[in-house]
Amino acid sequence: MPRSVFHSWAFLLILKFKENLMSKKIYITTTIPYVNARPHIGFALELVQADVIARYNRLIGNETYFQTGTDENAFKNVLSARQLGITTQELVGRNSEVFRKLSCVLNISYDNFVRTTDPIHHSSVHLFWKQLRADDIYVKEYTGLYCNGCEDFYRPKDLIDGCCPDHKIKPAEVRETNYFFRLSAYQSRLERLLDTDQLKVVPAGRKNEVLSFVRSGLRDLSISRLAKRLGGWGVPVPGDDTQVVWVWLDALTNYISGLGYGRENGWKHFWNESTAKVHVIGKNVWKFHAVYWPAFLLSAGLPVPNEILVHGFITEKGQKISKSLGGSIDPFECVRYFGADAVRYYLLRAICPFDDGDFSTQRLKRLYNTDLANGLGNLVSRVTSLCCKADLRGYKYPSIIDEPEGYRAAIRNYEFDKALETLWQIIARLNQDIDRTRPWELLKTPNSTSLKARLSAWLRDIRQLGYWLTPFLPETGKKILEILSEEPIKPCEALFPRIT
Ligand SMILES: [Zn+2]
Repeated sequence: MPRSVFHSWAFLLILKFKENLMSKKIYITTTIPYVNARPHIGFALELVQADVIARYNRLIGNETYFQTGTDENAFKNVLSARQLGITTQELVGRNSEVFRKLSCVLNISYDNFVRTTDPIHHSSVHLFWKQLRADDIYVKEYTGLYCNGCEDFYRPKDLIDGCCPDHKIKPAEVRETNYFFRLSAYQSRLERLLDTDQLKVVPAGRKNEVLSFVRSGLRDLSISRLAKRLGGWGVPVPGDDTQVVWVWLDALTNYISGLGYGRENGWKHFWNESTAKVHVIGKNVWKFHAVYWPAFLLSAGLPVPNEILVHGFITEKGQKISKSLGGSIDPFECVRYFGADAVRYYLLRAICPFDDGDFSTQRLKRLYNTDLANGLGNLVSRVTSLCCKADLRGYKYPSIIDEPEGYRAAIRNYEFDKALETLWQIIARLNQDIDRTRPWELLKTPNSTSLKARLSAWLRDIRQLGYWLTPFLPETGKKILEILSEEPIKPCEALFPRIT
């Protein structure tokens, strides 16, 4: 084959593959947090990132399904409920509702909210267990070091000073007979999927971490726990009530149970080869999502996810916010004070999507005043008030709204901060343009055509801003589009009143 022909052929394949990542159908999920405590500001980051992806895809006309929910079968819930002197069911019901409310106040556009205590989810877990290759499951007695926080076993060499690296507590020695999954049999297939980006882990640094974990050798995995030890909480193993399904296998199944897996065939509408299936997760759970979950799916003969976006942690003054202590920033208070869009703006603009980032209300206040009140808010109120004074009427917007340069690429790479930067560059340019033009002087000339031409150009650009802001700041984007669609345009109230 001539070299050039081969090249163009390879190029076409790459293009086709890239397009597939933002294909016509997309299924996007957050992780489902365990609900032994109220949500802290850290989980808001994941919700907001996933929401941008969902809203953007809807905006450009892709069929989109967005799912979040709560993981309620963890043993930690049993322990927390005991401490509070209430039933586990009561605890998970109460806290799950708070997580759902957090989604509401942050304006998260989820299509489905899964609760793993839902009996419908339980029957999906049963079915998934039975769909795993029979040869992949065996029973073994063993002793291991178990961290209740992680719900996972540790090898001594993976501990730091004898403690779980994540929870900083000494794992307990547990000796029991469990069902095991032959994870070792999937090492080479997983390695190939990860290496070729068929299962793409973003960012690249994280992908390398996952790959080197897989290459270092995969050991078989315990996928059940002794029911007695867990106070009977969880989903029983099909045909063996003495064991419950390991809470991670149970929780991961939510990604298909929420689509209706096992109930009818509708779930295949989103869980199939031609849908881009994207999981948004935190950096502490990539092993479960990028290694165990795809291995389970391969064993069950089902498609694996296409992309796993791994974000960092929100810190406060550089410290990780612990789930049990909750941190000092209450996400509900924060939204009440600054508004959902301002909190979303901070999480998406001031936090690098892939690294740890600090949340500080001082900095949020500063960004609110500079970027939102002075930058965007001021622009919209200046231009609308000029339109009113110049009595601009009958302006027709262009039918096509261009995507700002770099915006689409940034979203496709999950660089939410960069995508917002492209919009704020437009805002800065427009504000400078207005200052330079000195339109208030042109207003002195009645019916100034040059002023009307300027105003029309600014309106077109502000409409473009409003449109592409919608995935990030849905309320503000919608408000801007409404203001601009009035005839004649009226001066608007401040979108973001300054906070002093
Ligand atoms: Zn742990």
